[in-house]
Amino acid sequence: MASSLSEVGQVPSVFQTILVLDFGSQYSHLIIRRLREFNVYAEMLPCTQVISELSWKPAGVILSGGPYSVYQDGSPHVDHDIFKLGVPILGICYGMQELAWINGKGVGRGDKREYGPATLNVEDQSCALFKDVDHSQVWMSHGDKLQSLPVGFKTVATSDNSPFAAIADESKQIYGIQFHPEVTHTIKGKNLLKNFAVNICKVSQNWTMENFIETEIKRIRKLVGETAEVIGAVSGGVDSTVAAKLMTEAIGDRFHAIYVDNGVMRKNETVTVKKTLDEGLGINLTVVDAGDIFLSKLKGITDPEKKRKIIGNTFIDVFEDVASKIKTKDGSDIEFLLQGTLYPDVIESISFKGPSQTIKTHHNVGGLSENMKLKLIEPLRELFKDEVRHLGEILNIPEDLVWRHPFPGPGIAIRVLGEVTPEQVKIAREADYIFIEEIKKAGLYRQISQAFAALLPVKSVGVMGDQRTYEQVIALRAIETTDFMTADWFVFEAKFLKKVASRIVNEVDGVARVTYDITSKPPATVEWE
Ligand code: GLN
Repeated sequence: MASSLSEVGQVPSVFQTILVLDFGSQYSHLIIRRLREFNVYAEMLPCTQVISELSWKPAGVILSGGPYSVYQDGSPHVDHDIFKLGVPILGICYGMQELAWINGKGVGRGDKREYGPATLNVEDQSCALFKDVDHSQVWMSHGDKLQSLPVGFKTVATSDNSPFAAIADESKQIYGIQFHPEVTHTIKGKNLLKNFAVNICKVSQNWTMENFIETEIKRIRKLVGETAEVIGAVSGGVDSTVAAKLMTEAIGDRFHAIYVDNGVMRKNETVTVKKTLDEGLGINLTVVDAGDIFLSKLKGITDPEKKRKIIGNTFIDVFEDVASKIKTKDGSDIEFLLQGTLYPDVIESISFKGPSQTIKTHHNVGGLSENMKLKLIEPLRELFKDEVRHLGEILNIPEDLVWRHPFPGPGIAIRVLGEVTPEQVKIAREADYIFIEEIKKAGLYRQISQAFAALLPVKSVGVMGDQRTYEQVIALRAIETTDFMTADWFVFEAKFLKKVASRIVNEVDGVARVTYDITSKPPATVEWE
């Protein structure tokens, strides 16, 4: 396993940062998203963070919501040193209850749960947090409530069910709100967060991808130094391409991109990657044609998990082999490994999952072996997907690539159900190509989150040119989603599906029938295997 460099605190040393302490709410990451939408940088850490161990000073602190009750034994509590930072603090739901618990313990079970919309009445119009927020809908989600005002606080806003919908100790710039400003159902939630960050914490709104590129390139140069070299895998997807381009901007040919053709990529993929990355973007690229190795290992395998494992392990073998042969300018070993880790993966590993949890550091190395001894470099680890896309646009990565649908690591191997043979891969690949081509022609590609064709090894009777046929089935899948956790199938016009079905049966040998998958996730998954 490659060792992870501690990169925590790199960005906050450049951009003023709001610290979000996570008490385990399902919405915590949305607080960060919303702040970044108006160009304020924010980072999340678990609520158990010891403040004296923080390597940077936040410009403000937000305490998130959480599923616990502050008065219960074993519920999580924040390090009281947050009050010594001398910066504004905002508690959201559990976060407000925590502030109240610390200042007088007036929190208990409410008579009834309050879940859903409520109208906010701002009682104190002069409160800076509520500029332009009055009388708007807010979103509640709590069962506990404040029984009294904590010491030093006043009531700033109420709702029908919450006499303490918002409280403040303005002399100390500490605020608490019972509702969730981070969800879109709170109509003016973004205004409120902006009031907190920009007006109260006085953070400058300079978190832009243009500024990020500049500071990130400097950081990479400093980290890598004058002579060390870096390798990284590219897949033809947006994340790895953006990461590779950023590395190239920073250290030029001392970055080596490796593209492994595993024999189960999409149609024309290798040619396109070569053209776009090497010729177009000037990335120092090595292309490895390893299709035969992968396909021979997949022979006879039908179990989806086994397929995934074989492809993952073979990828590592091939990648390590190629990496070991790369010549560096001064003959020394490659020192760094580039990873396209994004912020949602980081959040996943640092979010608070319960009082007994031990916080693990994040790894996404995909199992490269110990003896590679590479240090990790993760230039996208602070970014959300849409920020990566924006970054890609600024780095002149072609629009087609920037907006590409996600494609699974095991590729078409998990879209050919049953045994993966070169013939089966070809059928699935051709059908997929037609489907995507038609989607693009119809101008639907950006509305759809992911689309592909899967080959079902089921024979079905057909008739073509008066001849009886007996061939397999293609299942088309197209979904809409914001986060891939849940997804719904995309509603095409009948005319569109007719055209795609007719083209596939006519143009792809070995297909007698086309179906459209109308299952949502859950209960189905996006991929078939
Ligand atoms: N568990 C607390 C309650 O029920 C806090 C809920 C929350 O933060 N959303 O009131």
